[in-house]
Amino acid sequence: MDVLTGRTQAELEELLGPSSGPAPLPPYRAAQIFRWISRGARSFEAMTDLPRELRAALGERFSLSSVEAAARLREPGDETEKLTLRLRDGLGIEAVLLSDGAGRKTACLSSQAGCPMGCVFCKTGSLGFRRNLEAAEIVEQFLRLRDGPGDAPRDISRIVVMGMGEPLLNLGELRQALAVLTSPGGCGISKRHITISTCGMAEGIRDLAEHGPRVGLALSLTTADEALRRRLMPVSAAHPLTELKKALRYYQAREGRRITLEMVLLEGINTRKADAEALEDFVRGLETVVNLIPWNAVEGLSFERAPLRSPGSGELAAFTGELARRGIKATMRRRKGSRIGGACGQLAGDLGTGSYSLQSAGRIATPPKRS
Ligand code: SF4
Repeated sequence: MDVLTGRTQAELEELLGPSSGPAPLPPYRAAQIFRWISRGARSFEAMTDLPRELRAALGERFSLSSVEAAARLREPGDETEKLTLRLRDGLGIEAVLLSDGAGRKTACLSSQAGCPMGCVFCKTGSLGFRRNLEAAEIVEQFLRLRDGPGDAPRDISRIVVMGMGEPLLNLGELRQALAVLTSPGGCGISKRHITISTCGMAEGIRDLAEHGPRVGLALSLTTADEALRRRLMPVSAAHPLTELKKALRYYQAREGRRITLEMVLLEGINTRKADAEALEDFVRGLETVVNLIPWNAVEGLSFERAPLRSPGSGELAAFTGELARRGIKATMRRRKGSRIGGACGQLAGDLGTGSYSLQSAGRIATPPKRS
């Protein structure tokens, strides 16, 4: 059955209009259906301003959903919430709802099931690649995150595509999903409030700069020491930092927007003076802000046979001091969602084999206490 979610209003008009056969719908019906989908309607029956017979006919031909919410977990003492979704082919993906101090909510969405990039510090990377997500599967992460436990949908004003996968390897479906999510007749998320994060696909950055959408860009840099980066992030072999910097400058010249550089910090690995020095060199000529992310623990991940660890407070202070001395603007990301496996680098799309058993999707559960 064809899924209507993930299509723009114009595509719905086309699909349901004159080309659809003996009983075409006028454009205003497509607009109504698009609005209902964007509000999160789960069934055609819920579309109460459509005639009853039309709702029944639509229900026979189309479906509204391609995913099933399998579990929701909330971080104790925090607003962070992780949603696990089961796709039609049985794969699991995850999306995370984040709240800042001012109560603004951000949806962190996945673009792939698994990830082919193999960054050594990332749980998703350790799973390998399963497949690209379809636009509907990306849009539905947002809609289902917005549902929440109550009757009224929650107000989510921002999107970051920083969940599972490398978004620039799935740019076609992501573009389609963002066209739906930013549509003024639908969810109406401002492009200024959307950020795509890449591990460093230079040609994808150029593609984004040339063909849009005009959203913010974050680069998961981790270190600007080329030799070390190649050992931590295999993508660096195909996209060296010099090429990457050229792509970032190209993007910035066209977009005029500041680029976020994300640095996952690993104890004793990328917090050296040499890393600060290399970073100083890399940011020269770019308008950037550096986001430092102390590594969120993932059991079993190691680097060259030594288990990975998050830096202690002394190491963090020394590194941030070194950056400040060099005039590099950096912010430290607050740890959020790590107890529910929902923090940066921890997503796995676990459908029940992980440390937390599945909970009813209608309820929000908190994880068991760790001893
Ligand atoms: S950090 Fe991003 S690109 Fe790297 S393996 Fe994880 S999900 Fe993939």
